[in-house]
Amino acid sequence: MTSETTTAASRVQQAGHDLLARRHATLGPHSPLFYEKPLELVSGSGVWLTDAQGRTYLDGYNNVPHVGHANPAVADAINSQLRTINLHTRYLNSRVVEYAEALLATFDGDLDRLFLTNSGSEANELALRIARQHTGHTGVLVSDFSYHGNTTSLAELTTGLKVREPLGAHVRALRIPDISGMTGVEAAALLEQSLADVDAAIASLQESGHGVSVFLFDPLFSTEGLLQLPTGYIEGVAARVRAAGGLVISDEVQSGFGRTGASMWGYQMFGLEPDFVTMGKPMGNGHPIGAVVTTAELLNEFGRRNMYFNTFAGNPVSSAAGLAVLQFMEQEDLMAKAGELGKYISERLHSIAAGSGHVGSVRGRGLFFGLDIIEGSGSQEPAPGLTKVLIEDMRERGMLISRVGRHDNVLKMRPPLVFAREHADILLEQLEFALASFDR
Ligand code: PMP
Repeated sequence: MTSETTTAASRVQQAGHDLLARRHATLGPHSPLFYEKPLELVSGSGVWLTDAQGRTYLDGYNNVPHVGHANPAVADAINSQLRTINLHTRYLNSRVVEYAEALLATFDGDLDRLFLTNSGSEANELALRIARQHTGHTGVLVSDFSYHGNTTSLAELTTGLKVREPLGAHVRALRIPDISGMTGVEAAALLEQSLADVDAAIASLQESGHGVSVFLFDPLFSTEGLLQLPTGYIEGVAARVRAAGGLVISDEVQSGFGRTGASMWGYQMFGLEPDFVTMGKPMGNGHPIGAVVTTAELLNEFGRRNMYFNTFAGNPVSSAAGLAVLQFMEQEDLMAKAGELGKYISERLHSIAAGSGHVGSVRGRGLFFGLDIIEGSGSQEPAPGLTKVLIEDMRERGMLISRVGRHDNVLKMRPPLVFAREHADILLEQLEFALASFDR
């Protein structure tokens, strides 16, 4: 390196420090950032990102840029709509209706109405409110390690992230069964026990006068660390909740839009139709838009009783972004590709796991996969410390991934849906190298 390039590099580094200091001075020091040395990303294209130093990274983590970073079709749709008209939704506009029709066409059964929102949190908040009014109950069942958003009501049922609010008196947290590594007999026993726990939670809500309003769940149990459920669990919970007069919300913020590679919506992995499907993140490829999809009965009942208005939600620009995402997904057949690639990745992860002393199990499906990182040398103990080292090492290798789970030891790999086999090969090869360094 010449002294000129050294000076240029140190100038860029200094600018990074300054930016961090300015961020702390404005957003405060608690606004979360990934990595020991935060990464300043300045541009993206498809599955690739570039930092302020000009280094490129493969994005193995982000699901918001569902159809790729800086997708030109989405950018053009936003731009063109913004140059035409953008208003709130109290005037007729065909773009909004066009989007509503296209999104609802991805649902079966009675799920044929929607409310548009600005985020996943807002969608869950609204679904909870509708359910409370409909059922006349306030009780909520959630997983005991989950996250569904940042409003006050959702903070009171947050179990998988630090919040000051105590668990609401109207909330019961369920331990969701995970059968990975179990025999059939063990799995059946766990299913029975877990459903008995649900009965007990419902009885407790009824005794305390809250009753059961909803069961709120993420079909992939992402925050929990991509659990492997016993067959029949979700259906069993839903049946019990409904028998108690409650409703079911499938939170598809992470599981939706073809992520599982098998169906557009995560709940379709199970034999049930929820009363609400909530969504956000990938919906506008980064443009903030969310939704609650529900039945005509629930929508109309709520509409009759409340004047619900949301200034920005479902404006023509957001709708144009959402529509472009759906069209791109269809044109490129992204869901089917995610299914095929997911199978390939899963096979390779199993062979990587077999060759490493530090992988407990392979998790996930479609383009959402994880590895349990364990202490090894005979110990199955979760290894959050090693997991952190691995993620930092992967960053040094130009690979962006993260981690989740109760023990913070499940690698979280959930790339944009335009991730292709050649990208998977790069990511998996680097992952194998990074893991191998633990066995040396
Ligand atoms: N539900 C789930 C499952 C989520 O992962 C998140 C965000 N991480 C939310 C809801 C909240 O969405 P938002 O951040 O758009 O409000």
